[in-house]
Amino acid sequence: MGTHSTIKPALLPGDGQKSGWNAILPDRPATPLVGNHDADWVVVGAGFTGVSCARRLGELNPGHRIILLDALPLGFGASGRNSGVVTESLAPEGGIKGLSLQRARDKTRLMNAGTDLLRRQVQEHGIACDWSDKPRIKASTNPVGESYLRGLKEGYEKVGTRIDWVTRDEVRHNLGTDFYGSGIAIHGNGIVQPAALLRGLADNLPPNVLVADASPVIEMSRQAPFRLTLPGATVTCERVMLCCNIFLPQFGFGRGRYMFLATHASLTAPMSPEQASRFPLDEPFALVPAIHGAASLRRTADNRILMRKSTHYANRDLRFDWQALEQVRGAHRKAIDDRWPALRDLPIEHTWGGIVSYPANHGQVFGEFAPGLYASSSCCGIGVSLGAISGTLLAEMACGEGSALLDIVRAIPAPTPMPPEPMRRYIAEKALRRSTRKCQPD
Ligand SMILES: Cc1cc2nc3c(=O)[nH]c(=O)nc-3n(C[C@H](O)[C@H](O)[C@H](O)COP(=O)(O)OP(=O)(O)OC[C@H]3O[C@@H](n4cnc5c(N)ncnc54)[C@H](O)[C@@H]3O)c2cc1C
Repeated sequence: MGTHSTIKPALLPGDGQKSGWNAILPDRPATPLVGNHDADWVVVGAGFTGVSCARRLGELNPGHRIILLDALPLGFGASGRNSGVVTESLAPEGGIKGLSLQRARDKTRLMNAGTDLLRRQVQEHGIACDWSDKPRIKASTNPVGESYLRGLKEGYEKVGTRIDWVTRDEVRHNLGTDFYGSGIAIHGNGIVQPAALLRGLADNLPPNVLVADASPVIEMSRQAPFRLTLPGATVTCERVMLCCNIFLPQFGFGRGRYMFLATHASLTAPMSPEQASRFPLDEPFALVPAIHGAASLRRTADNRILMRKSTHYANRDLRFDWQALEQVRGAHRKAIDDRWPALRDLPIEHTWGGIVSYPANHGQVFGEFAPGLYASSSCCGIGVSLGAISGTLLAEMACGEGSALLDIVRAIPAPTPMPPEPMRRYIAEKALRRSTRKCQPD
C-alpha cells in the first residue's frame, strides 16, 4: 500500500508517566494487541470519549466485534490525569469569552446528558470512584473576580443551571480556608477519582468489546476496508471511530484549529485525622477556577488535597515539560501552604502534567469524514462529560440512530482555522499572562 493512501500519525502519545490518580490505584498490567485481527469496528482512543463510544457500539450491535485501542496504558491519557470534575454546564459570554448563549445552551444540554450518563454507569455497575454530587464552587480572590462571578452567575442561570451565591463565610466553611472571598456554588456536577472511573467504565463494557491498551496505531489506510497497523498487530475493519482527542489532527482532522495547553496537578498524601479535623466539614469538595488560568483544588474522599495549576502553551510537541515538574511541584506546595498553613507538613506525593485542547470558536470535530471513518474531539478542558456524551452519540450516528442530542452536537460547527505560528503562540501566551495577572494572588 503506498504512503499516499495511508495516514501515519507524526506524533504519538508519550506520557508514560502515571498521574497521581493512577499511582494510588493498584497496578493494572497493560494488554497490548498481538497478531492479525478482523473486527467490525475499531475505536482509537480509550479516554471517556472512546470508552463511551465502544460501549454504545457494543450495546447497539451485540453480534459485532469491537476493538478499543489506546496507545498508552489505560488511564494514562488526559482522562486519567484531570481534576475529576464532571462538568454539567457552561455559562455563555462572561463565562467563556466568545461563547454565544445558543452555543452555551447546546453544550449545556450535552454536558448535562454526559454527566447523567456517567452517573448512571457508576450506579449501575457499582464503580468505586468516590462519585460525589457535591456542587462545585467558584470563588474570587479579589474584587475583579467577584464582579466577574456575578456575571457568571447570570450566565449559568440563562442556561438553566442551579446556582447559589455563597458568602465568604460559607466558602470558608466549605473549603476550610479564608484564602477566597465570596463565590458561587454550581449544582448538577459530579466529583470523582477520574482514573478509577475510567477503569470502572472499561471493565464493564459489553462482552463483544475487546480493550487493548499500550497499542498505538502507527499507520492506517484512508478508506474502507481499513487496515490499522500497530507495533505487534494489525486490524482490518469496515469502520473506524477516532476518539483520540489532542492527537486527532495527527490523523488529518482539525489540523491548525486547536490551541493546546499543558497544565499540571499535584496530589498530597492523605491527611492525618488531626489535619482533617481542622476542616469545618468532613466531606470532599471541588473548587474550579473562576478565571481561566487560576487553580482548581479538591479535597478527595480519602482526604488528599489536589492542586491543579501552572499552565503553558504546548502546541509544538503535545507534551508537558518533564524537566519543569520540580518547579511546578514547588509552585503547588506554595499554593497549598497559602490556603491551608496547617497543612505545611502534608507531603505532596505525586506531580504530573497533561494537555488540554481548545478548539477555535468553541467548535467541535464530530461526524463521518469518509465512508466508515468517524471522529469526535470535544475537550475544551471539560471533556469528561462532553467526551462521554459525544462518544455515545458518535456511535449512535454511525448506527443510524437519531436523537435531539445528536442534532445538537451535529449543529456545533467545526473549529475554524487559528492564526498560524508563531502568531498563535504569541496570542495564547499573552492571554495566559493576562488571566494569570487578573487572578493574582493565586
Ligand atoms: C490536568 C488536567 C485537568 C483537567 N481537569 C478536567 C476536569 O476537571 N473536568 C473535565 O471535564 N475535564 C478536565 N480536563 C480535560 C479532560 O481530561 C479531557 O477533556 C478528557 O479527558 C478528554 O477525553 P477524551 O476521551 O476525549 O481524550 P483522552 O482522554 O485524551 O483520550 C484519547 C486517547 O487517545 C489515545 N491515542 C491518541 N493517539 C493514538 C494512537 N495513534 N493510537 C492509539 N491511541 C491513541 C491517547 O493515548 C488517549 O488515551 C483536564 C485535563 C487535564 C490535563
